[in-house]
Amino acid sequence: MPGNPAFRQIQVAFLEADVHMHRFEKLIEETKGFLDPAEGRRLYDVALEASRLGPFLEIGSYCGKSALYLGSACRENGQVLFSIDHHRGSEEQQPGEAYFDPDLYDDRQKQIDTLPFLRRTLARAGLEDTVVPLVCASAVAAKSWSTPLALVFIDGGHAFETAWLDYTCWSGHIMAGGYLLIHDIFKDPAKGGQAPYDVYKRALATDRYEELEMTGTLGVLRRRSEGDAGAAV
Ligand code: MG
Repeated sequence: MPGNPAFRQIQVAFLEADVHMHRFEKLIEETKGFLDPAEGRRLYDVALEASRLGPFLEIGSYCGKSALYLGSACRENGQVLFSIDHHRGSEEQQPGEAYFDPDLYDDRQKQIDTLPFLRRTLARAGLEDTVVPLVCASAVAAKSWSTPLALVFIDGGHAFETAWLDYTCWSGHIMAGGYLLIHDIFKDPAKGGQAPYDVYKRALATDRYEELEMTGTLGVLRRRSEGDAGAAV
């Protein structure tokens, strides 16, 4: 009933949710990155469930596109997302390479610097109390890490050694029932590099993960509890 105060309250709540969604979508659109909206939506859905268990860690912050999805879900449940990146760009993002973006090149430093872009994204999204940027190589942050993680998202460098190092550094910190997400999985070598798919297959071969449905190039694995685990790494 339109005159009813409870009804008006619901109307206002829906309007606010609409405005919020519109702002979020605009921010997603304006943030540089290589994640398509369906993959982003899946990240958010998995993250919403996982953030009931514990904190997250992502490798490959870039300009913060995936942090918008993961961080928003974390915020819902009062969790934190640690987001690692050296911010100097991956191999294919260097000058002269296929994914070089001149906007990200800092003339004074004479190198790529994506950190200011990440900071701007987090500030605009109000995620500065939720997302903790770690500015270093993933193996450096892993040296003294001991916090169990509910979700690890591997979206860093695409060289075999880099992707494998990210996996070996972080997968052991995933708690039972937690998630290992891997981006840029191309089962057809003609469509993209094979390192993320290689890591995905090796993770599955340990029998420590349950394979869930993929979305686009986003692989979703759920860590079994110790009792269910089969062969060791
Ligand atoms: Mg990616």
